[in-house]
Amino acid sequence: MSFVKGLKCRECGRPYPKEALYVCEYCFGSLEVVYNYEKIKEALTRSQIESRPKNLWRYRELLPIDGKPTDGLTSGFTPLIEAKNLSKALGVKELYIKDDSTNHPTLSFKDRVVAVALSKAKEFGFDTVACASTGNLANSVASQAAAARLKSYIFIPADLEMGKVVGTLIYKPNLVAVEGNYDEVNKLCSEVATKYRWAFVNINIRPYYAEGSKTYGYEIVEQLGWKAPKHIIVPCAGGSLITKIWKAINEFKKIGLIDHGHTKIYAAQADGCAPIVKAIKENSDIIKPVKPHTIAKSLAIGNPADGYYAVGTVKESGGSADSVTDDEIVEAIKLLAETEGIFTETAGGVTLGVAKKLIEKGKIPKDESIVISITGNGLKTQEAVIDRIGKGIKIKPTLKDFEEKMRR
Ligand SMILES: *Cc1c(COP(=O)(O)O)cnc(C)c1O
Ligand SMILES: [Zn+2]
Repeated sequence: MSFVKGLKCRECGRPYPKEALYVCEYCFGSLEVVYNYEKIKEALTRSQIESRPKNLWRYRELLPIDGKPTDGLTSGFTPLIEAKNLSKALGVKELYIKDDSTNHPTLSFKDRVVAVALSKAKEFGFDTVACASTGNLANSVASQAAAARLKSYIFIPADLEMGKVVGTLIYKPNLVAVEGNYDEVNKLCSEVATKYRWAFVNINIRPYYAEGSKTYGYEIVEQLGWKAPKHIIVPCAGGSLITKIWKAINEFKKIGLIDHGHTKIYAAQADGCAPIVKAIKENSDIIKPVKPHTIAKSLAIGNPADGYYAVGTVKESGGSADSVTDDEIVEAIKLLAETEGIFTETAGGVTLGVAKKLIEKGKIPKDESIVISITGNGLKTQEAVIDRIGKGIKIKPTLKDFEEKMRR
């Protein structure tokens, strides 16, 4: 049984049927999934959710598929870690890491959106899936398409990190490396999508795909004992995840699973690609596209599709935004590793770096609950840190050499 009513234009509100549509033909606004929340409220309880398998489908009434989920049966329900050591380092009282660097199967939060997208693509009868990606989406679509026996076409900027390229090619997709940045890749894909009958997860089935991100927010609330935190810091690329975490908290309120969701949401970007942060700081809702130049390649989207809504989310929640230099990104990656034993990718360095900055500036109070969104794994972006972590000592296999070299 499905609780999805259909789609609706985010701008003019016009309704659309549950099809592979993504843009309003009247005003070119993007489309969004509409649910029957009254029915969900009657059907879904905390204990019911708790009794289900520990994957993202435990919230299936709030996800946009009609039949049984077929993908992502092991994705989601990643750890929420109480970060005691890091909280000391930052001088705050109650700090958590939501750790999607361990998400299954490809170690980033993108496994959530792809799980929903591929389940939906199969419902629609597609035999080929595709995406425009900054890296993690490429990994996840290639992997999950292989497992689902779907053909896949993956478009990436040609200069991605080795870990992201290998972590895509291994699944034998059709990988297309485009000589250009993500925004150029995305523009090309929009043209390809109109010509070929493929399910482009982040283009023509984007309304469904994007809903998968909500599960990151649902899990945080459930894992905190059905309580929304006071502050969440979220990395932004296209700006979708941040809006969906906000939507998740508000949906839980709407269907009575939590009493209040007084959460403030903070946007994190790299200095070298911060169009969303810039708009927030200038108190504008106009996103001025930029040409990205940062080591945080997974976040390097200069013209973010959901930028406008990301700005709206931050404003509505009462949060704020900041950005960090490449140097601060590396320092933050190291800080997380050295305090909590978690190796995150450059996007995680952005999030922690910005969290640190906002705490130091007094924008996030030190005595309230804070969640830092760690969305990807450091083994995929080793280039970023390889020159900054020292070297182990090299010795001959003798106790004498060991003790001699140790003394230095
Ligand atoms: C894609 C991505 C994001 C940002 O997602 P958007 O929804 O596009 O803002 C954050 N972190 C990582 C590691 C990603 O791959
Ligand atoms: Zn419209």
